[in-house]
Amino acid sequence: MNFCSNCGTRVSHRIPPGDNLPRHICDACNTIFYENPKMIVGCVAEWEGKVLLCRRAIEPRHGLWTVPAGFLENGETTAAGAQRETLEEANARVEIDAFYALYNLPHINQIYMLFRGRLLDADFSPGAETLETRLCDEADLPWDQLAFATVRNTLIHYFNDRRKGEFGFHMGTIEPMARAR
Ligand SMILES: [Zn+2]
Repeated sequence: MNFCSNCGTRVSHRIPPGDNLPRHICDACNTIFYENPKMIVGCVAEWEGKVLLCRRAIEPRHGLWTVPAGFLENGETTAAGAQRETLEEANARVEIDAFYALYNLPHINQIYMLFRGRLLDADFSPGAETLETRLCDEADLPWDQLAFATVRNTLIHYFNDRRKGEFGFHMGTIEPMARAR
């Protein structure tokens, strides 16, 4: 940022007293602007053994597949955000069962929180940010056309856990350019 969003004065970028990281600082109105990671919430929504996937109509990764997920809004709980994203991207209503996976992406300042859930019915269709929606089993899932390593890792865990008959919780860190796994 170049200008204070509070008063419009040009900001400087330096370490405030008592801090240890540089921040944007407005010396006119004494505001310090802290930037923190963004949360992305989403869910693996199952219906009759298959999971709901969306083909992205937006960048990044236009045309590739993902589970419903997006940025958490202010004033929203994480599970409600995952339900909202499922409704927005796939016009689908989901009941959240459990928190399932957390991924740190420190190189792009994001944290993914993915839930497990069940579709309430098989009524779904592409939302505005989606080209195509589809229910996939492990065998017919477009593994080489997934949009994000977080989604790929989560789905690998999901089908492995389901085979074992026990869903655990999974946490990991995605490194830049890392192959998902
Ligand atoms: Zn200011």
